[in-house]
This record gives sequence, structure tokens and C-alpha cells, in this order.
Amino acid sequence: MQQIRHFINGSYTPSASAKTFEKRSPLNNQLLAQVDEGGQAEVDAAVAAARTALDGDWGRLSTEKRVSMLHAVADEITRRFDDFVAAEEADTGQPHHVIAHAFVPRGAANFKIFADVVKNVPTETFQMDTPDGRGALNYSVRKPKGVIGVISPWNAPFLLMTWKVGPALACGNTVVVKPSEETPATAALLGEVMNAVGVPPGVYNVVQGFGPDSAGEFLTRHDGVDAITFTGETRTGTAIMKASAEGIRDVSFELGGKNAGIVFADSGFDEAVEGIFRSAFMNTGQVCLGTERVYVERPIFDRFVAALKARCEAVKYGRPSDAGSNYGPLISQEHKQKVLSYYAKAVAEGATVVTGGGMPKMPGDLAEGAWVQPTIWTGLPETAAVVREEIFGPCCHIRPFDSEEEVVALANGNRYGLSTTIWTTNLGRAHRVAASVDVGITWVNSWFLRDLRTPFGGSKQSGIGREGGVHSLEFYTELRNVCIKL
Ligand code: NAD
Repeated sequence: MQQIRHFINGSYTPSASAKTFEKRSPLNNQLLAQVDEGGQAEVDAAVAAARTALDGDWGRLSTEKRVSMLHAVADEITRRFDDFVAAEEADTGQPHHVIAHAFVPRGAANFKIFADVVKNVPTETFQMDTPDGRGALNYSVRKPKGVIGVISPWNAPFLLMTWKVGPALACGNTVVVKPSEETPATAALLGEVMNAVGVPPGVYNVVQGFGPDSAGEFLTRHDGVDAITFTGETRTGTAIMKASAEGIRDVSFELGGKNAGIVFADSGFDEAVEGIFRSAFMNTGQVCLGTERVYVERPIFDRFVAALKARCEAVKYGRPSDAGSNYGPLISQEHKQKVLSYYAKAVAEGATVVTGGGMPKMPGDLAEGAWVQPTIWTGLPETAAVVREEIFGPCCHIRPFDSEEEVVALANGNRYGLSTTIWTTNLGRAHRVAASVDVGITWVNSWFLRDLRTPFGGSKQSGIGREGGVHSLEFYTELRNVCIKL
């Protein structure tokens, strides 16, 4: 059985306490690995290593050398592609095509794109008049912010962790990563890549462990950490913000969502069904940008519900390696219980269960896995818990609407504001609705189509700040002004 260690100062190290925790497979609940559980000692050691690297070799590296090293990291991930895919598949149980075509390639791209941004971004200058007529010249310089604490979730572990590590390192920072306790493998494996391409020890550190009263919380409270970038639940964001307030540490938050999908009667029907299906059920609904509230214009409502139901009932459950399987389990038994409790709540609240609503019958050892059925409800008011709260499972509620104004009000009537997907062939309407929905990211006739140069982040309780392209520089660098009297 695998032992997954911390990666501190360029070496794989066990916990001083010798404490470990179990990582079990989502597919069948079998033990996959023992993971070292980090505490204060490991966080202290990782932060100290990150500080030393920042003040030493890494801090002295030219931008050109740093950029080429990050390209080498991306190339080495690509060379070890099969290892990353296998590690991510084991941890998440998700279908091979999702991991091999989306999650792992994006992990490599996250190093290249931000290296290129840093190489090409201009800085500003201002010439000013002075009373004595000599004038002055101002120019700004970007400096790394320092030691960055990276706290990441389990739903697309490698993609989401590198989305933060890539820009942090490109800007010249060093990092201490606390990956989710559910998905320790790819963060650990990345340490091998860093060593293979000669990234100095201490630049990339990983402390395994949990959140509250564990490695995660100790990292957010650490005096030696200059900023925290976090992706996860809104509730956890509140706890991290409180902890970071102590040291006035900057935070960047990518939080939860309860995203609306809006389907107009003039949409390309089949394309809209397929788009909503993907947005609600890809990765077994464990996508922050996923659609859990669907609003369909009344003339096509019944036809749309029937088509989405048929699509759900055609999913092929299976292991990542099973040919043709396109639907995996939830991440853990705990998450399965949470999702099933929402399935029960929907019924108690009076929902019509269009399809699903329980657990599938799985063969052999898979019967022990964290499987739930893709589920569709109709007939609930907006006040119902399953329409209001983020479930983070393969489920959605579908409601009819009659006008553009009505659907914008419905879409905006939620505390989250991460993303919306709009399906229409009316260009004017697409622009109007996109301008009216209170979210950070809007897709029209598409979903999950990402250009990494664009700003990414949530409105309302879905986040603070934007990452992506040059926007990441706002968080990962300190912009300083120099004023020279001429
Ligand atoms: P989570 O908040 O439970 O955990 C995320 C990470 O935070 C884990 O590493 C966990 O150990 C750590 N953590 C938990 N409590 C902590 C604390 N008190 N102090 C420090 N660290 C702590 O989230 P999750 O269940 O892993 O992920 C699912 C959530 O993430 C969903 O809400 C989803 O919408 C959100 N998410 C958002 C985005 C986005 O870009 N907005 C992307 C992916 C996931």
C-alpha cells in the first residue's frame, strides 16, 4: 500500500508525530494509501523552507530563468502524464476522459501560461510636473508577495492546485500547499517533478492533513505566511478570513456556487440539453461552476425535462478504466451521505423526482463505493433547501419561466454569484441577460470553455478577487511605485 508523505524543502518527509490518516477509494471504499498527517511542526518546517528559498536561490533567479524552469515543470508533467492521470483517477474515481483531457493537461498549462504572462506584462510609468520645472518620473515594479499558503479542494485537485501554484511561482513567490485530505496524491507527485527539473528546495512544499485544528488552519494562522489563496466552501472561507485577519494577510477566495442555467425557447434545443447535462453532471456534479438550478422557458419545458431525463438515464457507471464509462462516484462516503440527505430533503419538501433520487445498484466490490444516481427534480419553490443551497452533487432542479425579467430575477435570487450559462440564439438577449446576472463568469451557448488569460472568480458569496492571466498578478505580486525627481 502507498505511503504519501509531506514534501518539505525538496524531500519527502514523515510527520514528526508519526500520525497518519487513511485515503480510501471512492470506487469501492478500499484502502488506497496511508497519508502522513501534518501538524504545527510540519507547517513550521515548510514555511521556514519557503522563506529560506525566497531569500536565497529562488529569489535571486532572473525572470528569464524562472520562466524557463516553469516551462520545464510543464514539460515534465506532460512526460509523466500517465502517472498524474493514474494518481488523479485513483484519488477521485472520475472517468478517464475527464482527467486525461481536462484536468491533467490543464495542470501542465497552468505553469506555462503564467510564466508567459510574467515574461510579457508591461508596467506603468507616469511623468509628472513639479513646481521647480524639473519634473519627476514614476514607475511601478512588481515584487513577489512572499510565502503563499495554497489551500485547495478535492473536486479537480491537480487543476485547482496548480491554478494557484503556477502563477505564485511565476511571480517569484514560494508556496506551502495544503491539498485536500481527500486527494493527497498529485500534490505529492508534483514534488518529484520539481526536483527533476531543478526547482530549488523550499520553493514548492506540501503539508498533508486536514483543515480545522490541523495543517490547514495552522497555515492560515502562520506569521511567516504573507498571503493565502483558497478554493473551497464559502463556510471555510469565512474561517480562513478570520484566521488571516490576525496578521492582515491578503486572501484570494474561490468559493461555492449555486449556478443557474437559463434555457430560452429559441435556443438550439439539442445543444442546450447537452450543455446543461454536462454542466449539471460532469465530474458527478462536483464542479463549482456546475448548474444546480435550471430555468427553462415554458414552451419547451416539458420537452426539455424529458430530454435531460433520458440523457441522465443513459449514463454509464464504471471505473475510470472501464471502456465507455462516463460517470464516476462521489469523492467519499461522507460526501455521499451529504448528497443523499439532500435527495431525501427534496422529497420531504415536495419535489417531483423526475429521475434518480437514490443509489444505483453496483456490481461486486463497487457496491461499497460512493455512488449516487444523477437526479432531476421539478415543482419546488425557490425557498426549498435543494434550490437554495449548494449540494455539490449530480442533481438539479428545473423550473419553467415566462419572461427575461423573471428569469434574471430568479437567477439572481441566491447568495452565491459564481457562474451562469445562457442558451439562446438571440444575440441581443444574450448580451442583455449576461449584463444582468450577478456572477463572475457567464457562458453563452457553452459551458466550461476556459481561456486561462481571462479573469476567473465569483461575485457575492462566491469569492473575493480574480485570478487568471494578468489578473493573477494583482494577488501574487506587490506593486510598488518608485518616484524619481529629475
Ligand atoms: P472545503 O472548504 O471543505 O475544503 C477545501 C480545503 O480547505 C481542504 O484542503 C480542507 O482541508 C481545507 N480546510 C477546511 N477547513 C479549513 C480551515 N478551517 N482552515 C484552513 N483550511 C481548511 O471544500 P471542499 O469540500 O474540498 O471543496 C468543495 C467546495 O469547493 C465547494 O463549495 C465548491 O463550490 C468549492 N469550489 C470552488 C471553486 C471556485 O473556483 N470557486 C472551485 C472548486 C471548488
